[in-house]
Amino acid sequence: MLPGWVWLTGAGPGDPGLLTLHALNALRQAEVIVHDALVAPAILDWANPAATRIDMGKRGGTASPSQRDISLELVELARAGKRVLRLKGGDPFVFGRGGEEAQTLAQHGVPFRIVPGISAGIGGLAYAGIPVTHRDINASLTFVTGHDPKGRAPALDWQAIARGSGVIVIYMGMRNLGEIAGKLIAAGRGGDTPVAIVQSASTPEQRVLETTLARAAAEAEAANIGAPAIVCIGEAALMRQALDWQALATGEPLRNTDPLGLGPAER
Ligand code: SAH
Repeated sequence: MLPGWVWLTGAGPGDPGLLTLHALNALRQAEVIVHDALVAPAILDWANPAATRIDMGKRGGTASPSQRDISLELVELARAGKRVLRLKGGDPFVFGRGGEEAQTLAQHGVPFRIVPGISAGIGGLAYAGIPVTHRDINASLTFVTGHDPKGRAPALDWQAIARGSGVIVIYMGMRNLGEIAGKLIAAGRGGDTPVAIVQSASTPEQRVLETTLARAAAEAEAANIGAPAIVCIGEAALMRQALDWQALATGEPLRNTDPLGLGPAER
C-alpha cells in the first residue's frame, strides 16, 4: 500500500475564485476531504465527487468534535493510505489551529503538505474595498483574536495595541466586540475611530457595516451582523468609500475617492 498523506490547505474566505491552484489540485485528487463549517459549499463543489467528505464543523447535528479527535482522525486516514485534504477557511496557519494539526502529523510521522490560503483579515477586507496597509495610513498591522480558549477577550497589552498599531484586524471578534472596543477606547483610541465589519466576506451573503469604535458593538447587534465576521479598526476602514469595487461593479458611484483628504493618490 502506498503511504497516504495530508494536504493541510486553506480554502480562502469563501469565493472559490480565491482558491490557489494547489488547493484546487488537492480538491480534485483527494480521496477524503475533512473540512470545517467555515468552508463554503461553493468550494466543496469543486471536489472530486467520489471523495468522502467529513464535515468537522458539525457531525450529525452533535457538538463539534474536539481538536484532538480531528488531528488523530487525519493521522488514521493517512495511515490507511488515503490522500487526505484537510480544508480550512482562510489560511490554515492564521487563527486556524493548522499549526497544531501539522504538529500532530509530524509527531505521528505522517507526510503532509501545507497549502496557504487567503486569510479573511486580508482578502476578506479587500472584498469590502479595504486595504490593510496604505502608505498614508499605517506602517504596521495587528491581527487579534477576539477570544481566548475560554471564550473571553484575550489578555493582551491593549494599551500597546491601541497606541502602536494604525490598523487592528480582529478575527472571531463579534462576541466580545463591545468589551474589546471599550478596552481600546480606555487605552486612548478615539471612540470616533472608523470601523468596518465584514460578514461572510467574498461570498454572495457578504454584508458590510461601517461604524465607529464607540458604536460598533451596538450597531452590529442592531444590524444583526454576526459570525463569521472580520472587524477592521482604523482609518483603513474609510478607504471603502473610495475602493468599494463591488458597488462600482453594480453601477453605483464611489462615494469619496479621497476619504483622507490628501489629494491625488499618485503624488
Ligand atoms: N483561518 C481563517 C480564520 C479562522 S478563525 C483565516 O485565515 O481567515 C474564524 C474567523 O475568521 C471568523 O470568526 C471571522 O472572524 C474570520 N472569517 C473567516 N472567514 C470569513 C469570511 N468569509 N468573512 C468574514 N470573516 C471571516
